Amino acid sequence: MTPSTTFAGQTVALFGLGGSGLATALSLKAGGARVIACDDNPARMEAAARQGIETGDLRQADWAEFAALVLAPGVPLTHPAPHWTVELAKAAGVPVIGDIELFCRERVARKPTTGSPDAPFVAITGTNGKSTTTALIAHVLAAAGRDVQMGGNIGTAILSLEPPSPDRVHVIELSSFQIDLTPSLAPTLGVLLNLTPDHLDRHGDMAHYAAIKERLVTGAAHAIVGVDDAFCRAIAGRRAGPLTRVQVSRVQVSQGHVGEAGEGPGILARDGIVIDGRRAPAEPVADLSGIGSLRGAHNWQNAAVAYAVASELGVTPDAFAAALASFPGLPHRMEEVGRRGAVLFINDSKATNADSTEKALSAFRHVHWILGGKPKEGGIASLAPYFPRIAHAYLIGAATEDFAATLDGQVPFSRCGTLAAAIAEAAAAAEADPADEPVVLLSPACASYDQFRSFEDRGDQFRTLVRALPGLRPPGA
Ligand code: ADP
Repeated sequence: MTPSTTFAGQTVALFGLGGSGLATALSLKAGGARVIACDDNPARMEAAARQGIETGDLRQADWAEFAALVLAPGVPLTHPAPHWTVELAKAAGVPVIGDIELFCRERVARKPTTGSPDAPFVAITGTNGKSTTTALIAHVLAAAGRDVQMGGNIGTAILSLEPPSPDRVHVIELSSFQIDLTPSLAPTLGVLLNLTPDHLDRHGDMAHYAAIKERLVTGAAHAIVGVDDAFCRAIAGRRAGPLTRVQVSRVQVSQGHVGEAGEGPGILARDGIVIDGRRAPAEPVADLSGIGSLRGAHNWQNAAVAYAVASELGVTPDAFAAALASFPGLPHRMEEVGRRGAVLFINDSKATNADSTEKALSAFRHVHWILGGKPKEGGIASLAPYFPRIAHAYLIGAATEDFAATLDGQVPFSRCGTLAAAIAEAAAAAEADPADEPVVLLSPACASYDQFRSFEDRGDQFRTLVRALPGLRPPGA
């Protein structure tokens, strides 16, 4: 745990006692603050009280006594409307911050007064690929022998990690909500992967959403920006300090130079090869083909960004390439579940919309596709360019008739109802398929809530059912 000492002797209001809220309350208390914690859910209040956290009704509190309001990232700060605690804090002139801000202040407070470098802090954001890139960076650094702490929006709450220190790297995934609550965000390396419209209900509009993400780039000592979309290109163009551009598309390679005219060298990922254009001549540093956990062009961006970070932290290209090969990947994101004969089984349950499913379909040539669930607006019509790759589609859940209408006449399909029935039918059909490497792919392009608790539950059930097939070989077996 990292005790937050920067509010020692002061009183702090805290709203939102989910996982990170509870960790924050414990950290503030350990650092010598008095915390008054509150949540709409009485069970969470009771759980916090059992852990020795003082709870109270912040509507009745005297806000003049609070040095800060610490808000959980899921609680609205601005849109659709500020939460009532935010209104009370504003009225009393109390700053509103989050747990990442407490970490940033702690990191500065622990900075040695002379000579020593700051505790290395890598902060990663973007619309897509945050978790994969964060996990990959942590994996590469650990493989290179570094002391790594990974958390934030992925896995462990930041204040439950070991404290910042000059010989330990914190690799932290940040959502836009977390950035919004971190006014003094100043990481050693600030990574912005990409920007597309997302969460606009919580951010108002795209301009506001992009401005929040840009703060991570502006505050970083060194920024690493994926410049494949117009928003990120503009942000990179405005960056005044040290910057590494990472490009997957729209690239020119000429005379050992990677990057668009006038933009200086950067790091490039093309056709599955990561190329370091900062070296002359531009040097291929890693080949992603054959790495099962990094399939698909979207992962080229994630890997190239991970290389940019690793190389800034002194990892050699050879050590980077070696570490890539042992990256296990994250569950439910094009996760290899196993093989049976020539058939490959892939769990992409995290793909809850057509955009994400497109990434998976683009990575395979011959697919037995399990899809369906609670449909999203727009359905799967946008995936039509990939229909020639589909040997057969197996429909489950509430979207069945919608999707049947889209596929009709273009792709053979079955109405399977349940995931178990879909797996049984797809596995038998793929086994009889003469293609070189038929793939049974769960990439539903739908939310899971009609039949499952969550996308994780859906993916876990897929994995369990597939692993129970006779003759199935799990990865590495
Ligand atoms: P996040 O943490 O930002 O939600 P994940 O790493 O969990 O991202 O990946 C979620 C999904 O986003 C993946 O299953 C894939 O479909 C897509 N994705 C991953 N990386 C990228 C990327 N660099 N660009 C675009 N889409 C991506």
